[in-house]
Amino acid sequence: MGKTTLDPEDWGAFRSSAHKMLDDALDKMESARDGRVWNPLPEKMKAALQSEIPKQGLGIDELRQKLADLLPYGVGNTHPRFFGWVHGAGNPGGILAEMTAAAMNANLGGRDHGAIYVEKQVVEWCRQMMGFPAGASGLIVSGTSMATIIALKVARDQRFNFTCRQEGLSGRRLVGYASSQSHSCLGRAFDLLGLGAAALRRIECDHNFRMDTAELEETITRDRARGLVPFVIVGTAGSVNVGAIDDLQTINMIAEREDLWLHVDGAFGATAVLSKDLKGRLAGLEQADSLAFDFHKWLHVNYDAGCILVRSGESHLRSFSGRPEYLAGEGQGLAAGSPWPVDFGPELSRGFRALKVWAHLLEHGVEKLGRAINENCVQAAYLAEKITASSLFELAAPVTLNIVCFRYVSESVNDQDELNRSIVINLQNKGIAAPSTTILRGKLAIRVNITNHRTECGDLDLFFEETAKIAVELERAASSNGV
Ligand SMILES: *Cc1c(COP(=O)(O)O)cnc(C)c1O
Repeated sequence: MGKTTLDPEDWGAFRSSAHKMLDDALDKMESARDGRVWNPLPEKMKAALQSEIPKQGLGIDELRQKLADLLPYGVGNTHPRFFGWVHGAGNPGGILAEMTAAAMNANLGGRDHGAIYVEKQVVEWCRQMMGFPAGASGLIVSGTSMATIIALKVARDQRFNFTCRQEGLSGRRLVGYASSQSHSCLGRAFDLLGLGAAALRRIECDHNFRMDTAELEETITRDRARGLVPFVIVGTAGSVNVGAIDDLQTINMIAEREDLWLHVDGAFGATAVLSKDLKGRLAGLEQADSLAFDFHKWLHVNYDAGCILVRSGESHLRSFSGRPEYLAGEGQGLAAGSPWPVDFGPELSRGFRALKVWAHLLEHGVEKLGRAINENCVQAAYLAEKITASSLFELAAPVTLNIVCFRYVSESVNDQDELNRSIVINLQNKGIAAPSTTILRGKLAIRVNITNHRTECGDLDLFFEETAKIAVELERAASSNGV
């Protein structure tokens, strides 16, 4: 009987299929500007994705065809007119790094091997980029959601000198603070950490959608008087709705005075430190006790990759360390190199995400990445000007970074929210552009987020014209239906 192995019987045939697949992938990237923004998956392909688990494998050529067939059906974020949510646009270099990572098949939970040193280098670069002191620690993770869970666990544990790692919260009622515009991943982290999502106090914002720091102070005082235990303030550097940056310096002063942990959610906004023009707006970021941000958003590393930085590497380690006998470290040999990444986060087996980040920074250098970020902000200001100058639209929020929220204002249609929602769905369905929607001060807004190195001003002109056209058509149809 033959030996069972998963390696190809015919390496030559495998190699030629693999080369074709690489070309398919590169074709997809090279033609990123062409065609529709979003291609919904055809019904036939949806049905084909509900087949039985295969008992026998396919030939490699047939498999390659199946992979290539999927390529057009992404969310559209590689296209220059993808403006929805906060998605990075990706880049072709990521394909090379992913191939290398797959070939190495490294497990970055720990031990002493090359991949670990690459991750350490990336974390060190991030520490420098964000102005954190020597002694800070970090980890490359799936994204800001995971980074937030790690950060808030360290914040929670240090509040009780790490005893709650064994004993749990024992009825202690911890509370934390973030702005009403902060991201939902915070409430989810509170939930996961056993604090309850309601223990995250949402502080009202000023007219620029920044946390009202006077209300923050009042709420902390009130909570203490009620016997609650404040432990963390979360500042937002680039809010998901409008790109607002909290006053991090004032928040840091309050955190120091109140002896609270300062965490900053900088998912996309923090990376604006790479732009000389924007860096000043993030003043105070470098004072945070922990910072979460993404590579897959404004830095365009292909999904997924984010980072957690913790100012006190010692606290970080104390919050996650503790290995059983079968994972014990050694002074030498393969089990050397302590502390390991598993001592800084919840995952033991970990892929080589750090490689694509490392390769990305090497390929492009941070100056170019900073320029691309800055250009997006210039483009947002350009679009905002067009909207302000037009009688059809109004801005729904001030434009501070890369996000433009606006509305079509109709004199004849009552349900303006529905009209604006339809405009967005039409733009998406027609494949012209992919903005998203949000609610600001109780009203629905069309939301254009530009974290896209492929976007040009011409794309914004086209978006603006098509949006106006669709708006007027929809309004006419709605009025004639008496809506
Ligand atoms: C995207 C985002 C998050 C969540 O990050 P993921 O990488 O999607 O987990 C958190 N906060 C803000 C401000 C974001 O934009």
